[in-house]
Amino acid sequence: MPRSASRNGSLMNENHAAPSHFIRQLIQADLDANRHPQGITTRFPPEPNGYLHIGHAKSICLNFGIAREFSGRCFLRFDDTNPDRESPEFVSAIKQDVQWLGFDWEDRLRHASDYFEQLYGFAVELIKAGHAFVCDLSAEEIRTTRGTLTTPGSNSPFRDRSAEENLDLFSRMRDGEFAEGSRVLRAKIDMSSPNIHLRDPALYRIRYQTHHNTGDQWCIYPMYDFTHPLSDAIEGVTHSLCTLEFEDNRALYDWVLEHVSAPARPYQTEFSRLSLEYTVVSKRLLTALVSQQVVSGWDDPRMPTLSGMRRRGFPPEAIVDFCGRIGVTRNQQNVELSVLENCVREALDPSVPRAFSVLRPLKVVIENYPDDQEEHFVAQNHPNDASLGERHVPFCRELFIEQDDFMENPPGKFFRLAPGREVRLRYAYLVTCTDVIHDENGNVAEVRCTYDPETRGGNAPDGRKVKGTIHWVSAKHAQDATVRLYEPLFNDPEPKFSSEDNLADILNPNSCVTIEQAKIEPSLVSAKPGACFQFERLGYFCVDPTSTEVTPVFNRAVSLRDTWQRVKNQ
Ligand code: ATP
Ligand code: MG
Repeated sequence: MPRSASRNGSLMNENHAAPSHFIRQLIQADLDANRHPQGITTRFPPEPNGYLHIGHAKSICLNFGIAREFSGRCFLRFDDTNPDRESPEFVSAIKQDVQWLGFDWEDRLRHASDYFEQLYGFAVELIKAGHAFVCDLSAEEIRTTRGTLTTPGSNSPFRDRSAEENLDLFSRMRDGEFAEGSRVLRAKIDMSSPNIHLRDPALYRIRYQTHHNTGDQWCIYPMYDFTHPLSDAIEGVTHSLCTLEFEDNRALYDWVLEHVSAPARPYQTEFSRLSLEYTVVSKRLLTALVSQQVVSGWDDPRMPTLSGMRRRGFPPEAIVDFCGRIGVTRNQQNVELSVLENCVREALDPSVPRAFSVLRPLKVVIENYPDDQEEHFVAQNHPNDASLGERHVPFCRELFIEQDDFMENPPGKFFRLAPGREVRLRYAYLVTCTDVIHDENGNVAEVRCTYDPETRGGNAPDGRKVKGTIHWVSAKHAQDATVRLYEPLFNDPEPKFSSEDNLADILNPNSCVTIEQAKIEPSLVSAKPGACFQFERLGYFCVDPTSTEVTPVFNRAVSLRDTWQRVKNQ
């Protein structure tokens, strides 16, 4: 089979026991055939016009991961040919996120704008060979003469300009002699091609706009379809992996490389984009969320951005693990949120210390516990890993428990505290509810209990059992904290909206619930930003970067189980 014919078909190897993805198999086949004696080279080519999201993580893990796996190289290349929307802020955020995921471009950091002079040279080559021409039609005229899927386009009246005239006009375009939009350089291919991308596509346009990397050095900018294959060739990329929306651009990618003296011959292979339920992974829509200020910024912990997930407390290993599990195919991929959340739980569970926090406090007074007495219980920081140590949790006469761990008239399956009922306060004592005090509106304001001093540590010497174990904090020792609980940004698993819509109306109103006066055990007060904990029975929480010891702020990364509906009742 000729090399190019096999590139984008399904290459699932039926004899292979372990499922491998088609790109890995393609690369293995190329290496087996000794097509790349120097090894393979890939690239991750973000446009610096926004922050990276979970979809980009898939591409990063694929490109950097496959290079690592096959002892190849991967470039981080900023695809910065559109000065309007690009900025140094985005460049540095992207670099930080790639490193955070654990990938290293070593000395292979590039900008497509580094190649502007070389690209200009390739354009001159095309002109000299009669493969490109300067066209004076307006953008609108170019659109209307392009034809449709069923009708051919028509040739530009400027298509037959001589190479000399084109060279002169192109160099004057570069020199800034012409107004924006007045002329473009177009490839001369075929206005009746069934592939619209081949109908004399624009290669260069005039734009008077300061560029974040090249300043005012250029006023003509190369288009993506011209820049991308040539940047790949300049870097010696062997496998140019991109998402399926570029499938029809592949013919133009190949055409460009075949019509200039490209230093290498990369090939493009497409895979499907990742989308994730209940959120959006499109920079345009994420930009709209930020600019309409319905989220606090690109790193809002509800955002599917890598910076948002970092702030929320998702560890990078969880994201890399997720990208491995979802696989690489050409089928549309809308992944359930629970898959990502499970990866987060699995990454955090073995390593993060446990602690007590009460989100919605209800006061409990232990009536037979002496007013001036205090004691400490030893609590394991991790149930299965003694190396995480232990801590001393203070206990006294007044405690806080969760409001929903008490019910005055409990239904059948409620095993927590209720009048006359005995439960275990984790690590401490068995207590029995003796009385309930109401406020003037009839709401439960305080619960009275007695404790059994014989049950220190939480077990009765007579062997009697209790059905419920609840967590608590000492009222005297606990400190207030702000806790933020998150739900998905949207209620619709496949949210559909445009950047012009009023996004405040579409957002899940419970996507961020802030609790101002949660109670945390003393050991949590000095936790550093970024530190993660499991608050027992409540989920995994991470200290927000804005946190101080005066007002600690915790973000819930994930709840303990994957039904986020449960959270609604909490
Ligand atoms: P968006 O559509 O969100 O604006 P983009 O494709 O314009 O994204 P780029 O900065 O051009 O963003 O993307 C860099 C690389 O990441 C590209 O190779 C692109 O194919 C890949 N990529 C972007 N979004 C996804 C996704 N959802 N799943 C997998 N790969 C993606
Ligand atoms: Mg893009």
